[in-house]
Amino acid sequence: MVKLSEWRGKELFRKYGVPLPRGRVARTPEEAEAAIQSGAVPLPCVVKAQVLAGGRGKGGAVRFANTADEARSATSAILGLEFKGERVREVLLEEKLPIGKELYLSFTLDRGLRLPILISSAQGGVEIESVDDAAIDRQPVDPFPGLTSYEKRRAAKHLGVSGPVRASLDRLLDGLWKLFVAEDAELVEINPLAIVGDGLVALDAKVIIEDDAAFRHPEYAEIRDDRTPLEEIAREKEIAFVQLDGNIGVIANGAGLTMATLDVLKEFGGRPGVFLDLGGTDDPKKVTEAFLLMAQAHPKAVFLNIFGGVTKCDTVAKGLVEAMGQVPTAERFPLVARIRGNNEKEGIEILQKAGITSIPTLRESAQAAVAAAGGP
Ligand code: GDP
Ligand code: MN
Repeated sequence: MVKLSEWRGKELFRKYGVPLPRGRVARTPEEAEAAIQSGAVPLPCVVKAQVLAGGRGKGGAVRFANTADEARSATSAILGLEFKGERVREVLLEEKLPIGKELYLSFTLDRGLRLPILISSAQGGVEIESVDDAAIDRQPVDPFPGLTSYEKRRAAKHLGVSGPVRASLDRLLDGLWKLFVAEDAELVEINPLAIVGDGLVALDAKVIIEDDAAFRHPEYAEIRDDRTPLEEIAREKEIAFVQLDGNIGVIANGAGLTMATLDVLKEFGGRPGVFLDLGGTDDPKKVTEAFLLMAQAHPKAVFLNIFGGVTKCDTVAKGLVEAMGQVPTAERFPLVARIRGNNEKEGIEILQKAGITSIPTLRESAQAAVAAAGGP
């Protein structure tokens, strides 16, 4: 899923004529100050953390500044924050506009209807999930004629806008619809869409590009905004490593076995958190590296489920024992293993010498891992 950060989303908005506040991205406090001093961002301004998680307003990741100095210190306070597990590397500085009213608007796919839908609500500025259903208007849009004047009229009526604001809405909806189709988006969301004077301005932007169309958008290939710091290191080392909520670390090889392992842990009430796919590695050093990365995520227990093929059981066992020796005693965690396949006997022996028993069946080993993590 290619989720774009706010400023990237807003670049697309600009391309399709969706009105925006004047703004500039900054990666250091100096850049922020310069953006104000050069006049690129008028004062007073808003300083917004560029992270993919929502709820920045409530979470202290959106600040206001009245002077270049304040913009600089707001930027330095926000940069480096960890917001919902994401490191803030960039901020967006924008002129602070006087908001008349906050609205909500989005195009997304309704998988039930198998059609795009236009969602509008006069209660913008809060998460749409928390808005009363009666206050949300959903209109399917037939992709062949595309967005018609009928849908625009109904949206205007639901949003309670008329006159010049209504004219602004019509233009904005046309642009947003074009963007949605031409850029292969599965979501374009403006929340809040602000009434400013007698026009509309998109204060926020959330754009998700459809995964299956990613090949048509090489411009997004390098986007790495949604990786955790450990995932970032893993990527550099070419280790397949994913971090989610949960307390059991899973090491397996191959996507199929890894997914099946997660399912079995879930089945027994476990909460798999970090997972590491050793793939076709047959280098004990690589296993050690991967395992040390896993240790840094501080799982309560680790479940090693390996089917030895190209990746031989003794390679994994060697790398693992080596890594365990490098983890400080205070940071150690229980390890439950199940290794089968190529060089199984040798692997089991190596583990045994290090005090780790391999449990042969998937069921029992998964249950043991759940218990080692403190139970379901
Ligand atoms: P989110 O909380 O992560 O969705 O971040 P938003 O971009 O939606 O910003 C949160 C809130 O900050 C908005 O709902 C607005 O109330 C406020 N805000 C953002 N930009 C402006 C602005 O230009 N002027 C004013 N007055 N408020 C703004
Ligand atoms: Mn928002």
